[in-house]
Amino acid sequence: MKIFTTVDEIKTHLSEIRKEGKVIGFVPTMGALHDGHMSLVHDAKEDSDYVVASIFVNPEQFNNKDDLKKYPRDKKADIVKLEQAECDVLFFPSVEEIYPVTEAVLFEFGNLDKVMEGKFRPDHFQGVAKVVKRLFEIIEPQKAFFGMKDYQQMVIVHKLTKDYNLPVEIVPCSIVREENKLAMSSRNERLTPQQRKEAALIYQTLKMAKIQSGFMPIHELKDTVERKINKNKLMQLEYFEIVDMYSLKILGAWTESNNIIGCIAVYAGDVRLIDNMILFS
Ligand code: AMP
Repeated sequence: MKIFTTVDEIKTHLSEIRKEGKVIGFVPTMGALHDGHMSLVHDAKEDSDYVVASIFVNPEQFNNKDDLKKYPRDKKADIVKLEQAECDVLFFPSVEEIYPVTEAVLFEFGNLDKVMEGKFRPDHFQGVAKVVKRLFEIIEPQKAFFGMKDYQQMVIVHKLTKDYNLPVEIVPCSIVREENKLAMSSRNERLTPQQRKEAALIYQTLKMAKIQSGFMPIHELKDTVERKINKNKLMQLEYFEIVDMYSLKILGAWTESNNIIGCIAVYAGDVRLIDNMILFS
């Protein structure tokens, strides 16, 4: 695997690859790689000719500076995992390389970034959009692989590509879970063994919500979810929303959409965990 840290180097290399007619598949990450990330690399290998992964902990998307400081980093282990997965290129840029000048851009996402993560993490998606657009312009991939785990992010990145006519296909990848069905996340490493065990409640609650979907009014189901999570002393619900899968409009009744997803954010101590499940589609 080739490792590049500068924009010039990787651009020169990828222009050669493009000349060979290869389809470039891109997997952007923030590192501390786990099997969830690796499944994206495997999907990219299946679905493209040349796989580029990036590791960049983007300061712009952290509204909580403490969260940025505590974000797990493990460059050596990440490289070993990417080598094993036969990833072709790792892009590992510095902050200065990604943001050589401070540029104020304001992305317009309508409702998409006003709800859920956007509501509780102000400016988070502005930061995500800024880095993803920059990375897409550097790598110029034909396909980019995003996890359904960050469902709202995937919808917003898709809109970004449409709004800016970026010639890249966004490929959704399924959520990879730990044995107890907790969605894999770099943040799970910060959980105590007890929290990690009990965080299985998040998936169990989503499953319950799916089974109950359509059988009780939406507001009652949301109350039930809140009670079920908060009953556990180690967990605190931040939000559970039932939304249209495309507009992310918060639904008041089941009849308002045919494609419905439930999205949840839960604190276990100071670790914030998100997950989701399609309820109807
Ligand atoms: P991150 O490093 O957290 O920014 O994630 C990089 C990419 O990996 C994003 O597209 C995430 O949605 C995806 N990802 C993270 N965790 C998982 C998971 N458990 N299953 C599938 N994809 C994931």
